[in-house]
Amino acid sequence: MFKRIGVIGSGAMGRGIAQLFATAGVEVLLHDSRREAIDQALAYNRETLERAAARGRLGRAELDATLARLQPAASLTALADCDLLIEAIVEDLEAKQALFCELEALVAADAVLATNTSSLSVTRIASACRHPERVAGFHFFNPVPLMKIVEVIRGERTDPQVIERLAALAEQAGHFPARTPDSPGFLVNHAGRAYGTEALRILAEGVATPAQIDRILRDSLGFRMGPFELIDLVGLDVTQAVMESVYRQFYQDPRYTPSWLVAPRLAAGLLGRKSGQGFYRYL
Ligand code: NAD
Repeated sequence: MFKRIGVIGSGAMGRGIAQLFATAGVEVLLHDSRREAIDQALAYNRETLERAAARGRLGRAELDATLARLQPAASLTALADCDLLIEAIVEDLEAKQALFCELEALVAADAVLATNTSSLSVTRIASACRHPERVAGFHFFNPVPLMKIVEVIRGERTDPQVIERLAALAEQAGHFPARTPDSPGFLVNHAGRAYGTEALRILAEGVATPAQIDRILRDSLGFRMGPFELIDLVGLDVTQAVMESVYRQFYQDPRYTPSWLVAPRLAAGLLGRKSGQGFYRYL
């Protein structure tokens, strides 16, 4: 079992992953290139856990122990003795490759490197590493503690034992590990493309508003969230990166053509919930 987990990237996903494993009894160190992002994530986790305690879902002693297991790491070198490193940084191939190269020079030879990428090829991320067999995808969903599924993705050179260790860790934390091959969008973001891109197409054609589309799809198809609510939660920046990545990986198959509606919103800083406005306002 893993004894100490380093999470790199303290945004929406990193903070959730850190909280999940600290709650499951594992020591977690949380890092980000921006110090304020670490502090905000830890404050968010504390608030969330205290709210759970106030509702009786977590005992006082358990709350204190969980918070004690969740610590900041001001630098990457502070992660040197972690046996599992999970990255949840920006969705950019070169940034992820550079980070894994840096980590390989720091951590033990048998430490596992996992990526929370939504859409990049795990094999391509691993191709920059000296030991691609220790690299796997570990793809969580937002919000991590509540979405009880994680894709465990085997790159072309991933050691099958690494997959089994990650799957066992997911189960220890109460999540279902969906073992998935390294194909474009894996399983969830491949199937989920249609939900988002068709809704964006309907909006671009002026057929209906985001609120109408969300309401109709939510209430008729049984989804918990409408496509625009989901895009705002995931973030328009992450959504755009996923749309473009899946489109490229399927060699510009027109079925996956990204919508032109997202780029201008990104340029205007409308990233979704995290910036206070996306397709909806949250202020
Ligand atoms: P986010 O923008 O909320 O957070 C990313 C964090 O990474 C930021 O705090 C940023 O400062 C930090 N960062 C960027 N580059 C860094 C580096 N080189 N070193 C250290 N820290 C760095 O993003 P997010 O929504 O948490 O997404 C993170 C990753 O998880 C992406 O790969 C994304 O595709 C994936 N993902 C996102 C979702 C979602 O719903 N948002 C779901 C599944 C997977």
